Amino acid sequence: MNQTATIMQNEVDKRRTFAIISHPDAGKTTLTEKLLLFGGAIRLAGTVKGRKASRHATSDWMEIEKQRGISVTSSVMQFDYAGHRVNILDTPGHQDFSEDTYRTLTAADSAVMLIDSAKGVEAQTKKLFQVCSKRGIPIFTFMNKMDREGRDPFDLMEELEQVLGIRSYPMNWPIGSGKQFCGVYDRVRKQLELFQNGDHDHIEVRKVSGYDDPIVKEIAGEFLYEQLQEQLQLLDVAGDEFDLEKVSKGELTPVFFGSAINNFGVQTFLENFLELAPQPQPRNSSQGEIEPTYEKFSGYVFKIQANMNPAHRDRIAFLRICSGKFERGMAVKHIRAGKEIKLSQPQQFLAQERDIVEVAYPGDIIGLFDPGIFRIGDSLSQGSEIIFDELPTFSPELFSKVTIKNALKQKQFLKGIDQLTEEGTIQVFQTTSGFDELILGVVGQLQFEVMEHRMRAEYGVDILLYRLPFQFARWVIDDKLDPSKFRVNSQLVKDKKDNFVALFENEYAMRSAMEKMPQAKFLETAP
Ligand code: GDP
Repeated sequence: MNQTATIMQNEVDKRRTFAIISHPDAGKTTLTEKLLLFGGAIRLAGTVKGRKASRHATSDWMEIEKQRGISVTSSVMQFDYAGHRVNILDTPGHQDFSEDTYRTLTAADSAVMLIDSAKGVEAQTKKLFQVCSKRGIPIFTFMNKMDREGRDPFDLMEELEQVLGIRSYPMNWPIGSGKQFCGVYDRVRKQLELFQNGDHDHIEVRKVSGYDDPIVKEIAGEFLYEQLQEQLQLLDVAGDEFDLEKVSKGELTPVFFGSAINNFGVQTFLENFLELAPQPQPRNSSQGEIEPTYEKFSGYVFKIQANMNPAHRDRIAFLRICSGKFERGMAVKHIRAGKEIKLSQPQQFLAQERDIVEVAYPGDIIGLFDPGIFRIGDSLSQGSEIIFDELPTFSPELFSKVTIKNALKQKQFLKGIDQLTEEGTIQVFQTTSGFDELILGVVGQLQFEVMEHRMRAEYGVDILLYRLPFQFARWVIDDKLDPSKFRVNSQLVKDKKDNFVALFENEYAMRSAMEKMPQAKFLETAP
């Protein structure tokens, strides 16, 4: 291997790019912050969400957007730890949930699934899990809030299997929970990690010969000791074996119990994760699989963020580097546009500010200043034209009728709707009943708000949105489509390309339509 190839291999080997998936309030912000602290990327804890200390927060613009009521951000954070370069893709929680969230997951090579141990698998976790699972990426589970009275750990494992269909392997096991929580037994390193309330700068670790070591009894007390014996024996006998191959395929998830807020179990988790999680993986393209070590630069845009900095009204295109070395100022082919462009102002998302990047490697995410030339899914490459496989699209789940406040602005209104829906995250449908009404479909509520905001800011148009009761959209393929069949709890509309789309108020309405039209095909996304 020549020297350049060796450097490249090393850079790829040390990188880990992952997303944290969870339901709001499970503790994602808290965990992210602790991880960043280990990496020394931020100096202050408690500032990711804090306004006052926003200069230290993971991303200032995120805060700015929150103040303006539009936080669509899924930021990227980078730090170094124990010889690894770590990229965390933040997926927005709460109502910010959108198609962006799903797409961001395509840029990750693995996922960390964070679960509130008192609540188990919640709705949003399930949705995000399914997207990861379809890609077959490894998923690592952190069972959070062990300092609180939580559910039985076996119950939680059972739920992973029942609800998500994934087997699990506990890497450590909690001793007691809530007020009685005294720590975890590390099954891999055979040691006790002892819990105290408050932020753990250092965790007291006791090496033991096994979980039946008398030291365990001494520390945990008779009752918890016996409980632990029973539980771990059961795990040894009836539990899954650890199998890295299965972990890599996303069939088995290593589970870690801990408490993010107390910084308990986070470091062990991080260290194990970095060891077991995959380095940047190849991506499929028009030229077959592109290995990260392929010498020519290539990447794709998975997200476009508008108005990141209100002073500049700029847009940032987030690009995942798939192969080769990125160097500032390099010329690359923008395949769809058929142009060569210079990447002169790239930004990397270090925790504190938007730094200009000089070099970056596969697995890294860079932010490209976008004067309007990029679309989600665009491929950039050096040398031969590599077009990465299209990003998945997702079926909208929320619908609103959209109208204009001031009828005189009809032209700008239509232009705005047309251009903004072109970006791909919001879909527009037209009613077929003759009134020519427009309906917007989105994955997350916040997308409606962003739409409203951008129509006003960029097109000078005030829009009105009326929420409609539909929950599902299905593209209907049928030669002899009979629109009269979509009257009860459903409506037939057309998308931008004149495809028929049926909107349904509930699953029952959808199922009965499918039963009534066995010859028709009902697709979740546009054909
Ligand atoms: P996010 O919505 O997933 O980003 O969740 P946050 O990180 O904001 O956490 C939600 C709430 O859970 C906050 O009040 C946190 O202080 C709390 N929290 C996070 N981790 C823990 C934990 O380990 N134990 C307890 N008791 N609370 C926690």
